[in-house]
Amino acid sequence: MHIHEFQEMMRQLYFKRDIERGVDGTYNWLVDEVAELGEELKKQTDKEATEKEFADVIAWLASLANVMGIDLEKAAISKYNLKCPKCHKAPCQCTF
Ligand SMILES: [Zn+2]
Repeated sequence: MHIHEFQEMMRQLYFKRDIERGVDGTYNWLVDEVAELGEELKKQTDKEATEKEFADVIAWLASLANVMGIDLEKAAISKYNLKCPKCHKAPCQCTF
């Protein structure tokens, strides 16, 4: 399944609810899910629970993109097209 197909599946499952919740409400859910992922990473005890938190983050990111009319796959690939968008190398050679 491609990112676009996942986003379309999320649209079919949740678009009506997402559009009613709106940008701010959907963004707040995404932030909450990222925080839950962070809590799960601190525990590092249950890989299945961690996977579920990753799933929630990408699901809410897709929902927010649907509300905003953003094609996630197009956005991701146009910025990260086989090379680092900063140094234009693969793998990235940026200094930190
Ligand atoms: Zn780089």
